[in-house]
Amino acid sequence: MADFLFEPHAPVTIPIARGGLFAVRRVYCVGRNYAEHAAEMGHDTREPPFFFGKPADAIVVGGTDIAYPGQTADLHHEIELVVAIGKDGSDIAAGDALDHVYGYAAGLDMTRRDLQALAKKAGRPWDMAKGFDQSAPIGTIEPASTIGHPDKGAITLSVNGVERQRGDLADQIWNVPETIAYLSQFVALRAGDIIMTGTPAGVGAVVRGDVLEGAIAGVGTVRTRIA
Ligand code: MN
Repeated sequence: MADFLFEPHAPVTIPIARGGLFAVRRVYCVGRNYAEHAAEMGHDTREPPFFFGKPADAIVVGGTDIAYPGQTADLHHEIELVVAIGKDGSDIAAGDALDHVYGYAAGLDMTRRDLQALAKKAGRPWDMAKGFDQSAPIGTIEPASTIGHPDKGAITLSVNGVERQRGDLADQIWNVPETIAYLSQFVALRAGDIIMTGTPAGVGAVVRGDVLEGAIAGVGTVRTRIA
């Protein structure tokens, strides 16, 4: 038994649809990966992809409530296709990238939009705007061996039953293989890594009591309520 100062934290896990748990190592996120969303945030669509991170323990599973976080008055929803990496690799060629994918889920990149705007303006990091506690509700992971590798189909988010976001996976500026190829040039990907692949247009604010329901055709759903 190692001489730990305190009991190490249990691994963060996401349930797999056919049973078992996916133990999470890192969470990477892609910024502005749908043209309409890039436009609504005031950017063009020809930039290479860029990445930011969330702590693994920002993940929330099981459709449970999340707390409205402090230090914001503009908490936004972003529905995203989540890629679960199942095989290590660096400098992965786009043509080989899908071999590194274990499965997919629907997830929410919850964002303190007001803090993000301040960070952008000041040229400061996004961590407190994106990587706060409970900022990544994620649904069940569906193995690619079951559902394949979805590259088209509706991605939607409703709040209290009213649709707010709608896009199509086919409209991603950088598709999943390209995203994995880019990201793996910067960091070694390991089994257990999660990539949140960006959100379609229609992001907006939520308030306490709102119920968020995201769905991705052929992948699954994610649900949470703002407590
Ligand atoms: Mn996002």
